[in-house]
Amino acid sequence: MMHHPMASHFEPPDPRSRLDELRAAIVRCAAGLVSSFDDIVEATTDVATDDEHDPEGHTIAWERQQIAALIDETGFTLADIEAAEQRLHDGRYGTCTTCGLEITPERLEALPATPTCLSCAR
Ligand SMILES: [Zn+2]
Repeated sequence: MMHHPMASHFEPPDPRSRLDELRAAIVRCAAGLVSSFDDIVEATTDVATDDEHDPEGHTIAWERQQIAALIDETGFTLADIEAAEQRLHDGRYGTCTTCGLEITPERLEALPATPTCLSCAR
C-alpha cells in the first residue's frame, strides 16, 4: 500500500518515515557505528538513493540539520521512538500524552518522537 506524502490530510509529512530515520540514526549512534552526524546522514541517504532527490540540492544539508537537531537537542531514546510508533499505530500520534491537546505540526516536524505539546514539555 502506497502512502502519498502529498495527500491533503492535516498531518506532518510521513511521520512514520521520520521515526524510522530517527530510529536508524539512534541505533547507529548507540552501536558506535558512526562517529559523526555526517556519517549518519551518509548512512540514511544511502538507503534512499532511488528517490528523486537531487543529491547536491538542499536535501542533504536539511537532513543533516534535522538529524543533528533531533539527536542533539531532544536526546530521544529508542523507547521514545517506539512509544511514538505505538501512538502512530493507535491513531493517537500528534496528541499530547499529558494534556490530550493536539501537538502543532511544526513541533512534530522538528521533534517527531515528542510525546508532549510545547506547554507540557516545559
Ligand atoms: Zn500538553
